[in-house]
Amino acid sequence: MNKSLSLLKIRSLPLQLLLIVPFVLQIFGAVGLVGYVSFKNGEKAVQDLAKQLMERTSSQVNSHLDSYLAIPHQLNQINASAIRMGLLNVRNGQDLTLNQRKTVGKFFWQQMQAYDVTYISLSLPTGEFAGAARYDGKTVTIDDVVTYTPSKPENLTTYLTDQDGNPTKVTATGTWDTLNEVVYTEPIKAGKSIWVRIYSFNDPAYPPYIAASAGRPVYDANGKLLATVAVDIHLLKLSEFLRSLDISRFGQVFILERNGMLVANSAKQQPFVVFNKETKRIKATDSPNPVVSALAKDIQKSLPNLHSLTHGEDLKIKLQGQLHYLHITPWRDQYGLEWFIVTSVPENTFMAQINANTRTTILLCVGALAVAIVVGIFTSRWLAIPILRVNKASQAVAAGDLDQIVTGGNIQELNSLANSFNQMAGKLRESFTALETSKAELEIRVVERTAQLQQAKDIAEAANRTKSEFLANMNHELRTPLNGILGYAQILQRDPATNAKQLKGVNVIYQCASHLLTLINDILDLSKLEVQKMDLYPQDFHLANFLASTVDICRVKAEHKGVEFHYQPAANLPTAIHADDKRLRQVLLNLLSNAVKFTDVGKVTFRVEPVDVLMESVHIRRIRFQIKDTGIGIPADKLATIFLPFEQAGKRERNIEGTGLGLAISQQIVEKMGSRIQVESVLGQGSCFWFEVDLPLASDWRLTQATDEKVMGYQGDRRKILVIDDHPENRMVVVNMLEPLGFKLAEANNGQAGLDTALQMRPDLIITDVHMSIMDGLEMTRRLRQLSDFATIPIIVSPATLSEVDMQQSLDAGCSSFFPKPLDFNGLLAELQRLLQLQWVYEGLPESCPIANTDDDADLLLPPLAELTALNTAIQGGFIGDVQQEAHRIKQLAPEYTAFANRVLELSQRFDDEAILRLLKRAV
Ligand code: ADP
Repeated sequence: MNKSLSLLKIRSLPLQLLLIVPFVLQIFGAVGLVGYVSFKNGEKAVQDLAKQLMERTSSQVNSHLDSYLAIPHQLNQINASAIRMGLLNVRNGQDLTLNQRKTVGKFFWQQMQAYDVTYISLSLPTGEFAGAARYDGKTVTIDDVVTYTPSKPENLTTYLTDQDGNPTKVTATGTWDTLNEVVYTEPIKAGKSIWVRIYSFNDPAYPPYIAASAGRPVYDANGKLLATVAVDIHLLKLSEFLRSLDISRFGQVFILERNGMLVANSAKQQPFVVFNKETKRIKATDSPNPVVSALAKDIQKSLPNLHSLTHGEDLKIKLQGQLHYLHITPWRDQYGLEWFIVTSVPENTFMAQINANTRTTILLCVGALAVAIVVGIFTSRWLAIPILRVNKASQAVAAGDLDQIVTGGNIQELNSLANSFNQMAGKLRESFTALETSKAELEIRVVERTAQLQQAKDIAEAANRTKSEFLANMNHELRTPLNGILGYAQILQRDPATNAKQLKGVNVIYQCASHLLTLINDILDLSKLEVQKMDLYPQDFHLANFLASTVDICRVKAEHKGVEFHYQPAANLPTAIHADDKRLRQVLLNLLSNAVKFTDVGKVTFRVEPVDVLMESVHIRRIRFQIKDTGIGIPADKLATIFLPFEQAGKRERNIEGTGLGLAISQQIVEKMGSRIQVESVLGQGSCFWFEVDLPLASDWRLTQATDEKVMGYQGDRRKILVIDDHPENRMVVVNMLEPLGFKLAEANNGQAGLDTALQMRPDLIITDVHMSIMDGLEMTRRLRQLSDFATIPIIVSPATLSEVDMQQSLDAGCSSFFPKPLDFNGLLAELQRLLQLQWVYEGLPESCPIANTDDDADLLLPPLAELTALNTAIQGGFIGDVQQEAHRIKQLAPEYTAFANRVLELSQRFDDEAILRLLKRAV
């Protein structure tokens, strides 16, 4: 939950950001893309433009070279034709006269006027030579050479000329060995028109220049050499031409020879150097112009096979961080010149504008961004403010403040949102009001219904209380007479005067009363079951005796019905165990009596055996109780429900005896013991009920071991016992049980009287009931315990019912032992033995064993004789009822006669008329 909330927070973005970012990104993207594309297009256009420009320049240079360098050859052609045709008189092979040579010179002079060349010459095999020169580019001079002989070394004369080309003044003389000059020898060697050489001109009288010299031999019709003619052309004019090209304003154009020598360039530096007054040609790589030399070096590197270049080549070269476009085209002519025209333009010449445009684009981009952001912020504010208003109002509504009205704005959609919100808030208000109203109504209804329920509950509780009170009363009322019946049955069982037949009857009385008690207990148990308040009160008991007495009850019933009853206890059962014997008996009686009840023919088998399992403690044994019958059986579909209260499986008439409670209670008890009752049954064949419980062995059984021998008395001093009970019959049962054994008994009918009697007689042990008027048993115990004399005296609390008082409560009050009614004689004896450290004397023991003196009637204070007459008459007549009536009357006379009256009552209950007569004799 928290995690998803935080995720939501991370994922959700503010509206402003959402509106601004895409807007800005769009604009930025569009402007950037357009800028980039136009930049790229510009770059491409620049490249194309540069290429076109360079190609155009190259072809311009190409055609200029074609036309310019054709001039010397054309002139040579003209002159050769003139010679062959005899127009120039050189045919006879004779030495020319001065005039003839001058005519030639003048002819050349004339040609000079028409053509911008530096030298036109004629060399004759005779060694004569004639030429016209224009060294300074303006003045035309004529050279006249006679055949060179060592004797006449100064064979060259240079004349200035007049405006008609006639030689005027000699300006210089010199030596010219015509036949050994390359202008003569090379064309002859080649036998055709050729370029003789490219050379630099070194004459301090004239500005330096370089020139190319074209020559050809002239033969007559017979193939005889007549002469060689040559024309030199000014190569600096090429550089001038290159400089005149537009491109040279920002780029470079230069012409290279195959060997890398620079022919011409557009740079302002000359394509040669003057060193020691000598003009020297240079390689392009050595050009004083840094761009030219760098470009040349790069060409050398990039195109090592430059001479094999047949067509134009484009390069891009980076120079000092600057990109240069480069175009190289070869230029050749038929006379053996092989040159390369190099044009180059730096990229930035064109890119400058484009770069400026790019900068503008970027600025525009930034500007657009800023504008977009500002517009975005305003737009988003404009949008967000009404939304925030709705949001704030929604939050207020969520916080419970429903009185929210959102005002509209200028945006249609948000206006309708605000309207919808207002409508919604209105509806919510209405709903809440309705809800509040119905809630209030509901609360009123709840209060009313609660009151009704409370009333019903009170009624139910009152009814339940009445039921509980009724049950408790009934329980109490039924138990009191039962205590009498059971008590006296036990007393009679022990009375030697009871004969065998009577004893059997007494036994049946005892068993039936026990059964009745069990029924009462069942009813009580049910009410306890309802409130989950059933507890177990375990104690040590003799297992075999316990089982035998339980079996006896059922055996009687079985025999009565003519059903066989087999009791099969295993030989290795433990002697005594620690368990709630009453509850265990209740379960067994229920199962056994069911078996007998639902069996008409055949038998009921009761098996009890130890189960061999490994127990945690050696003091615990698992015992299996199994009750099997050959009765009517239980339908399979009922097996599960018979353990529920009021569930009966069989036919109505069969169940008349039962209540349907037994198994429910039994199962509950066995569950409390840590197990469950199991059942298997076949309809019409019989049923088998069994359960296994882990039972602790009785810790020190020997001490309290019951014996079949009859206790007759005890050794040692006579012990005094005080019995406190508001029911005389209950007191009587105890008195009659214990007095014959030699105890001295005193009685009291409530706690207060008990307290007084105790202080008076100082008993050795007290047996007290719980519920009594004036003061109850527990309160009396508490008070007694505060007195030092009674701090340790054993007090047995004997409640009428188990539900009356809790064992723990009694122990807390100071009771030594808890012994509920109806009293079990042997149990009571065991308890007395334990608490008073008694040594029993059994029937048939030698006389030597002193029994506590029972004849203390001597102590009794008798009323005056007159009061005893009626009693005497009654006893003489054997009217026990009258005797008892008289005894009660005497009791009322004075408290001091109570003991006597009680004694009489006690003896009368035992029908011991002899003993009463003996008492009365004493008075007489
Ligand atoms: P009840 O008081 O009716 O016997 P129980 O709780 O003891 O109540 O038994 C519930 C029902 O289970 C009986 O009514 C009977 O239908 C059936 N039942 C119990 N034991 C047997 C048995 N041994 N054989 C046949 N039916 C039995």
